[in-house]
Amino acid sequence: MTHPLLHILRERIGTAQVLTEGDLSAWELDWRRRWRGRALAVVRPGSTAEVADILRACAAHGVTVVPQGGNTGLVGGGVPDDSGTQVLLSLSRLNRVRRIDAANLTVTAEAGCVLQALQAQVEEAGLLFPLSMASQGSCTIGGNLATNAGGTQVLRYGNARELCLGLEVVNAAGEVWDGLSGLRKDNTGYDLRDLFIGSEGTLGVITAATLKLYPRPAAALTALAICDRLEQCVELLGRAHGLLGAGLTGFEVMNRFSLELVRRHFPALPQPLPPAAWTILIEHADHESEAHARARFEALLADALDAGAITDAAVAESLSQAQALWHVRESIPLAQSEEGLNIKHDISLPVSAIAAFAGEADAQLQSRWPGMRLVNFGHLGDGNLHYNVQAPAGVDPALFLQTHEAGVNQVVYDLVQRHGGSISAEHGVGVLKRDELVQRKPAVAMTMMRAIKQALDPSGLLNPGRVV
Ligand code: FAD
Ligand code: ZN
Repeated sequence: MTHPLLHILRERIGTAQVLTEGDLSAWELDWRRRWRGRALAVVRPGSTAEVADILRACAAHGVTVVPQGGNTGLVGGGVPDDSGTQVLLSLSRLNRVRRIDAANLTVTAEAGCVLQALQAQVEEAGLLFPLSMASQGSCTIGGNLATNAGGTQVLRYGNARELCLGLEVVNAAGEVWDGLSGLRKDNTGYDLRDLFIGSEGTLGVITAATLKLYPRPAAALTALAICDRLEQCVELLGRAHGLLGAGLTGFEVMNRFSLELVRRHFPALPQPLPPAAWTILIEHADHESEAHARARFEALLADALDAGAITDAAVAESLSQAQALWHVRESIPLAQSEEGLNIKHDISLPVSAIAAFAGEADAQLQSRWPGMRLVNFGHLGDGNLHYNVQAPAGVDPALFLQTHEAGVNQVVYDLVQRHGGSISAEHGVGVLKRDELVQRKPAVAMTMMRAIKQALDPSGLLNPGRVV
């Protein structure tokens, strides 16, 4: 028998936007292919009012809702469970840019806007929306805010939270909160906006946001450098901060094995420097001129070479060369998934502790799981590593994951905690880290988080079983 809710949803938003049959894996299977669920229906509203209608109907029927944007999340938070009872609420049709306010340096965009499409529209207006990540061709603004995404420009511009000035949210009761202020100052009580950012669909459905824009720099240059030790990467970061100041916009590191995977799975991508223990990708933006930027950038690298902090370096000569370097960096997650499932850790540490952490973690993992391979790369400028453990060569990756994930996590997370770090830097908690969170976060913090969830979603309708 058809669930009575489906009749109501079809009536409210049209039969074509309530999907129950055929291949729904685009919504039911996550990007990593780790979590496959089954939805009561995939529902695709076209407006905020329709989202509110859907949530009211779901609340009336006690049906739980999983919001989804581009389904690029890496912690299993945006796909339904396998009960066949949840509504998968896809925001992808809410994809209008409502307004660019150039004088206020803001854009107001709907939650389903694909990040790359928004970047392009803002660029047409002569401005910059700096949030950038490898998934930008598919991930959405709503998903970026719901996960408080980071990416490659956090060092200069901050993460999604820091780029957001206002939100429009539909709450669990189906009420619309219009908080789309473009204000940079607004101290009128508790910050509801910041409560929804990073809440991973558990407190409300984000339907639109007002975001900060920036002037476009006159030039952006990209360089590669190589060195032998992570300590040297940290030293170069310090030098870059000192010499480039706010002109330092990106600082990424990639260990030898992560680039070996890119070479193996994407042999056509050029890698201009020879393989090394560490390859660093640095981006420098300048508001004066390209010549000015190049002179400062080359001085930084020459000094670092002289001081022995790096062993070789190359500055991209053209925009296309720079893009090719970034393309290599951004291909690591794809190359990893071609290699098979691995044990992912999206961790952050104080930059001052990162080399000590990695030294201890590498040694402990290698002694307990000889031959395990580390795909260690990430946003060193933010103290954020993607410290991923791949099965030894010849061992079935899925079996390795299944057998050793808990043990590997314990080693890594114990060390992260000892060094004052976080077990989720930018990907969120989802289902992947929900139980770990309870173990690692102070009990008082968990109690306050649960109190907030209880206050905003007392019946537990929004993304149950995730985060808290
Ligand atoms: P989804 O995957 O659809 O959903 C993610 C979570 O947000 C789910 O819990 C979902 O319920 C919730 N959600 C989605 N939309 C809404 C909404 N409108 N309202 C309320 N809740 C909602 N992340 C980074 O931070 N930095 C990176 O550098 C980065 N690189 C990546 C590279 C690759 C190749 C891939 C596949 C992923 C990467 N990610 C990265 C992770 C992912 O892209 C981000 O988490 C992104 O913000 C998710 O956006 P999405 O629209 O795909 O969200
Ligand atoms: Zn990342």
